[in-house]
Amino acid sequence: VVIVGAGFGGLWAARALRNAPADVTLIDRNNYHTFFPLLYQVAAAELEPEDIACPVRSILRHARNLRFVMAEVQGLDLAARLVRTDQGEHTYDYLIIATGSRPLFFGVPGAAEHALRLRSLEEGVALRNHILFCFERASVERDDGQRQRLLNFAIVGGGPTGVEFAGALAELVHGPLRKDFRGLDVRQVSIVLVEAAESLLSVLAPRLRAYAVRRLQRMGVQVRLGVAVERIGPEGVRLKDGELLPAATVVWTAGVGGDAARFLGDSELAPASRGSAPAPGPAARRDGRVPVQPTLQLAGRPEIYVIGDCAYLEHEGKPLPMVAPAAIQQGVAAARNIRRQLAGQEPLPFRYHDPGTLAVIGRNAAAAHVFGRDFTGYPAWLLWLAIHLARLIGFRNRIMALTSWAWDYLFLERVVRLILPRATPPG
Ligand SMILES: Cc1cc2nc3c(=O)[nH]c(=O)nc-3n(C[C@H](O)[C@H](O)[C@H](O)COP(=O)(O)OP(=O)(O)OC[C@H]3O[C@@H](n4cnc5c(N)ncnc54)[C@H](O)[C@@H]3O)c2cc1C
Repeated sequence: VVIVGAGFGGLWAARALRNAPADVTLIDRNNYHTFFPLLYQVAAAELEPEDIACPVRSILRHARNLRFVMAEVQGLDLAARLVRTDQGEHTYDYLIIATGSRPLFFGVPGAAEHALRLRSLEEGVALRNHILFCFERASVERDDGQRQRLLNFAIVGGGPTGVEFAGALAELVHGPLRKDFRGLDVRQVSIVLVEAAESLLSVLAPRLRAYAVRRLQRMGVQVRLGVAVERIGPEGVRLKDGELLPAATVVWTAGVGGDAARFLGDSELAPASRGSAPAPGPAARRDGRVPVQPTLQLAGRPEIYVIGDCAYLEHEGKPLPMVAPAAIQQGVAAARNIRRQLAGQEPLPFRYHDPGTLAVIGRNAAAAHVFGRDFTGYPAWLLWLAIHLARLIGFRNRIMALTSWAWDYLFLERVVRLILPRATPPG
């Protein structure tokens, strides 16, 4: 069995294949697994990158039938049952594709070039460095307009990542940075959260959405709803209504699509097939997610499973959400189905158990729909804390995260504020 991607889907599939009568090869471009739900805290200088990541080899140390290969997968040859990587080729009898997602820019000019993103550990660190660097530059900038631009932050996208990052940034600015940069008036700092829809956190009930808006506003975040972005440039964000939000920092959290189209679909999308016969495969959707059967297999390819963010499957008439629990459950289900195929049994359809939705807004503030009920404020925040701590992989990571949170909570301090490696000057 070859598994591509050691994210939530791939890693849980590998774990569920431990001691199966199969040789399992897990391939990832990184040698670590990232806990994405806390990535925004790396960007907001709350946690170190190593607090939310764990080496794959140490997680799977006890699985004797499993080996890990650090490599970039470049293409597939479906006919030859071959995975091509920058470190060589791997043949398979069964393949699990769990390559996750990529940002979608919806054709907004300049978004890919000028906006910072939050989809990998490197991007989280780059954003943290950039924010701290803007403050350093602003503290010595003599030109009022230029200083204001350095202190303006625009976040595009009012989903959970945008909301959580906006709250964490406001707390970073009005807590630790206010104390560090005594020569700067942090009341000049502007944090604007732009959302094209009429509400934030569209997956939650209206009462919870309204709570999120009120809470962010109380923290000094300007929430702009129902306004789309026309383009993004070095000067900032131009809105569709013509207004320019000048900002040296624009963070794009607005769209996300599957990242398997590079390997599957028509021959143009699957580079490994060039020069040979086009690999027959399903057409990927426009958002890059690949439609799968209820068993998570590709139509006509019972040996290939696609899971997690890069798979498209409907549950109760709606697409499955691109969230960690869906990827984890699909990873376990794909592994179970491969075990069944090895035993000569039919694969079973996947059933999703929705554990609910949580978004933290700041200190003592979160919005949650869990256990069939809505929660806000302190109870929701405690739930968020307990669930994320329990899900974080590795005992050390849990201790480190808990220590940083306690430090921050008690002293309004952040343990992380180094600009490392040295950042590129903000444009
Ligand atoms: C900032 C952020 C915050 C989030 N917050 C939450 C949250 O609070 N709650 C929640 O439930 N979900 C959250 N999510 C979504 C959740 O992280 C995803 O749904 C989940 O990670 C999907 O799992 P996956 O296995 O499909 O993909 P991923 O976990 O993204 O894993 C994909 C893996 O494939 C590897 N890979 C990709 N391409 C290649 C290649 N060509 N060669 C080798 N390796 C490759 C990657 O390195 C990665 O390890 C968040 C996501 C982000 C980015």
